[in-house]
Amino acid sequence: MLDCHTNIRCSRKFQTWKPNDASTNATTEERKKPGSIAFADCETDAIADLFLHVSGKSLENGGIDDKGSYLSLNGVKELLNNIGEKVDAKILESIFVEADSNNGKIHLKEFLNGADKVLGDAPARIILVVGGPGSGKGILCRRLAVECGIVHLSSGDLLRDEVNNDTPLGRECAEIMKRGELVSSAVITALVRRRMRAFPGRRVLLDGFPRSLDNAYDFMELCGTPELALHLECEDTLLMERILKRSREATDGVKERSDDNFDTAVRRIRTFHKYHKPTMDWLSEQHVPIVNLDCSGSPGNVWDQLLAVGRLMRPATQLSKNGLKSEDGG
Ligand code: AMP
Repeated sequence: MLDCHTNIRCSRKFQTWKPNDASTNATTEERKKPGSIAFADCETDAIADLFLHVSGKSLENGGIDDKGSYLSLNGVKELLNNIGEKVDAKILESIFVEADSNNGKIHLKEFLNGADKVLGDAPARIILVVGGPGSGKGILCRRLAVECGIVHLSSGDLLRDEVNNDTPLGRECAEIMKRGELVSSAVITALVRRRMRAFPGRRVLLDGFPRSLDNAYDFMELCGTPELALHLECEDTLLMERILKRSREATDGVKERSDDNFDTAVRRIRTFHKYHKPTMDWLSEQHVPIVNLDCSGSPGNVWDQLLAVGRLMRPATQLSKNGLKSEDGG
């Protein structure tokens, strides 16, 4: 079975897809602002292949007419399932209504435009959470999710789900993760973005992302500028102690991580230092506000620092409410 993820070949900059079928021309004509497109240019080659594959599989899925291959509602459902888009019947129907020119058939160009209009609507608002392995990103995010109702997405968890489900992507990433290296930026960005689509307009904490300049470029290109970055900082010795503690505690009922061992932890910290500073420098050049938090203390202490920043910021928020225009129109 063709897997969309394994066909993603772009790296730092997304390439423009050059359709070789006249019926698919103009898929990029309506590319709008980041976050409003359903599929990145680098994904559309794989989607075009899959489209042909699904439409030719059975009469129930679609077929070919004078305009080229097309899909039925059933075919669109199968295509989306194949690329990990978990859409409900209502969304599926609205893609179909948006794209279909009333003949019950969706051609590739119609599908891509319809998917943009439906799936690319109201992108999520993102808060990045960055810091070394063991810095406490997950603990902070879980508390923010519980106390403030923000959605928590961890790039590491998304990848571990793929590994545990033994998907083609998971098999590809498992070894890289065991070595403490970074998986391909295009793969993780596509995965994160796909998951974010389940939360249109919501605030999402992106835990463990971006980890490299490639991640940051890819993200900004696909999803736009994040609202804020929370940056957890402490000494490497502490990171190491915490990773080893987590690995010891895993034996007491918590699931053990295959990368929480001494050798991989050393490599994860080394990888972190290789990519982290240029990534942060670039985010600040892009004017992404960065909140630095000292994570050498307890999780409670990190939380208190965040509350203190919130208190400091409150007068500024009020100023924006009374005078300057804020994003929420306040
Ligand atoms: P974490 O759970 O955040 O420590 O991530 C575990 C592993 O997943 C990392 O060591 C990387 O191999 C991979 N990973 C997680 N997030 C990313 C990312 N943003 N970019 C590339 N690789 C990642």
